[in-house]
Amino acid sequence: MQRLALFDLDNTLIDLDAAFLLWAHEFAEEHRLSRKAVDYLVKLDCNGLPHRELFFTKVRERFKLSAPATELWIAYRRRMPHLVECRPEVMAALTELRASGWRVGIVTNGTADNQLGKLQRTGLADVVNGYALSGVEGIRKPDVGLFEIAARRCGMSLTDGGWMVGDHPVADIDGGRAAGLRTVWLDRGTRVGHECSPDHVVSDVIQAADILRDINGRLPKKHR
Ligand SMILES: [Mg+2]
Repeated sequence: MQRLALFDLDNTLIDLDAAFLLWAHEFAEEHRLSRKAVDYLVKLDCNGLPHRELFFTKVRERFKLSAPATELWIAYRRRMPHLVECRPEVMAALTELRASGWRVGIVTNGTADNQLGKLQRTGLADVVNGYALSGVEGIRKPDVGLFEIAARRCGMSLTDGGWMVGDHPVADIDGGRAAGLRTVWLDRGTRVGHECSPDHVVSDVIQAADILRDINGRLPKKHR
């Protein structure tokens, strides 16, 4: 029996925060901003301005930049795929899951160019069975529809059950549960003031992959 494992991308399979810090340093240098500007950018990011258009509107105002916010945002999306990395052990863990009978997919919110660029440049697009990007499909997690598309791209259906692994309590865990999936939450020490009820809590995606592999190992051979 094949099983479905869906993963979030940002800050689950890749360390987006680390890439953001690199970008912030580059941005400050390019626009001749002070070191303090990097702190400001990181803080603004942490303070929950995930919508980048709004983020860049604020950044533009703060540093009196002449380029329009939409242009700054486009440049960000063009650059980020070059700054993210997927650790080799994470790539290996996904490959191992597939080898042990799992169908592995990625379900992520974000603009099509940025998210697709990250999937392709890290090589993740080649090691999973399928992926669903909100910017392409026009629906966002926690909407069950995006999980459904990801499952289908993996040759599976949500009615078969499966797992969702991610760091966002609402988008990944509430969304995954609503989609009928069991869940593993990556607790990155950041709370968004929302309690979630995952089946497992881990601090690294490798631990999540280990949990899934163990589950498979406990199944009788004919059900794997
Ligand atoms: Mg995430």
